[in-house]
Amino acid sequence: MLRVAVIGSGPSGVYTAQSLVEQEIVPDIEVYVLDRLPCPYGLVRYGVAPDHEKIKSLQNNLRTVLEHPRVRFVGNVEAGAPGLGVEELREIFDAVVFCVGAATDRHLGIPGEDLPGSHPATDFVAWYSAHPDAAATRFALTARSAVVIGVGNVAVDVARMLSRAAAELAATDMPQGPLGALADSRVEDVWMVGRRGPSQAKFTTKELRELGSLPGTEVLVRPEELALDPAYRDPAGLPAVARRNVEVLRGWAERPNGGGAPVGRRRRIHLRFFLRPVEMLGDAGGVRAVRFERTAPDGSGGVTGTGRFEEIEGQLVLRSVGYRGTPQPGLPFDEATGTVPHTAGRVLAEGAPLPGVYVAGWIKRGPTGVIGTNRPCAKETAQSLLADAATLAGRATAGDPVAALARAGQRPVLWPGWLAIEAAEAEWGQGLGRGTVKLPDWAGLLAAAQAADTSR
Ligand SMILES: Cc1cc2nc3c(=O)[nH]c(=O)nc-3n(C[C@H](O)[C@H](O)[C@H](O)COP(=O)(O)OP(=O)(O)OC[C@H]3O[C@@H](n4cnc5c(N)ncnc54)[C@H](O)[C@@H]3O)c2cc1C
Repeated sequence: MLRVAVIGSGPSGVYTAQSLVEQEIVPDIEVYVLDRLPCPYGLVRYGVAPDHEKIKSLQNNLRTVLEHPRVRFVGNVEAGAPGLGVEELREIFDAVVFCVGAATDRHLGIPGEDLPGSHPATDFVAWYSAHPDAAATRFALTARSAVVIGVGNVAVDVARMLSRAAAELAATDMPQGPLGALADSRVEDVWMVGRRGPSQAKFTTKELRELGSLPGTEVLVRPEELALDPAYRDPAGLPAVARRNVEVLRGWAERPNGGGAPVGRRRRIHLRFFLRPVEMLGDAGGVRAVRFERTAPDGSGGVTGTGRFEEIEGQLVLRSVGYRGTPQPGLPFDEATGTVPHTAGRVLAEGAPLPGVYVAGWIKRGPTGVIGTNRPCAKETAQSLLADAATLAGRATAGDPVAALARAGQRPVLWPGWLAIEAAEAEWGQGLGRGTVKLPDWAGLLAAAQAADTSR
């Protein structure tokens, strides 16, 4: 018998569990998928935007794995909490795979970054996704102009959410608070700003194109700014995604009113490039603008400052300049990459594998790629673990894992508890005349979970 703990029930954790049970090398295996939240699915539940229903529905695929007879979901258990370090986990499980993600924001490191009204995009995403850690967060959306710093898919997500009308989101599982705030939103202009050129933007074409189809929203680009990018003028040598992005932007630039005054539209999204944020301007009352330095291509794929500056008005600033992993107690950590050092998923401590300890997903390879990228990543880790199985099996001494986790001070929410949360969210939504609506705080989630018979 090989008893494995997978820490984290996001895509990488669930794909790791799947790879571990869908194999014949080690048939006698049990996988416990632990999460600090009482709810599974990681960023698929708490990151993917609510209006992306198709991607959200991946939760159904992940659910099938968590319902596998050899897999057990154990929510509300935090690895690294007092009494549940790597050593203690190794007493309960023969092997431990950390799939804890990398959802902390990176900092810009510029003056004024922490003025009221300037937030990491992670906070905004957590708020509209009803992450229970963000239960106290409020975005009043009284700003007339919002600046989104960054040109990746998360920046596109937050720009789109700021531009959607509440009626378009009522059918999603978005909680009531953010839906009400969007209904009352005074935002008219959303500026999405990148420090490099359009051919270097990280967004994918489908997400970019979607901005152009938002009802009531005009997308504005500046042809002369796009043309500063040599690859914009001649995109033939670009990778496919960048080339398609450039084509979409070119289409917007060539529209008769591209760059001109919007007609009959409620909101405008301005896509700006070659602008590097240098300071947030404002006072204790809040941010009022972002000061940017105009950049120019440096001829070797980067950009260089030009000494010319521009201010963009914004009473709300969302910084979306990348994610980063956080150190896990008891695990080595590479500060430069924000990941745990490993070889093929085996955690390395001072260059040697730490027996029985593995990583997969964003904490292994950094916050890049789409959900599907986690599948081969998880498979590689599972294969390493299975190859080590003979040296690991039967090492854990603590007996029944769920009882041992409870003895370690945790209050596990098992699968029936999660099903009870789902039922409560469906019921709550129905009462509001909507579909399923997420419960936005810890108390509500745990109360709903307790309604289930968690002894099964
Ligand atoms: C805002 C946002 C939107 C995105 N939208 C899309 C999209 O539309 N399409 C797409 O393909 N990809 C999207 N992605 C990328 C995708 O979400 C990631 O590729 C994927 O979630 C990474 O999987 P993961 O399992 O490594 O991490 P996560 O999904 O972050 O899962 C980590 C899990 O570990 C748990 N955890 C953390 N610490 C502990 C601990 N100490 N103890 C126990 N549990 C712990 C967390 O609660 C979480 O459930 C998006 C990412 C973000 C940030």
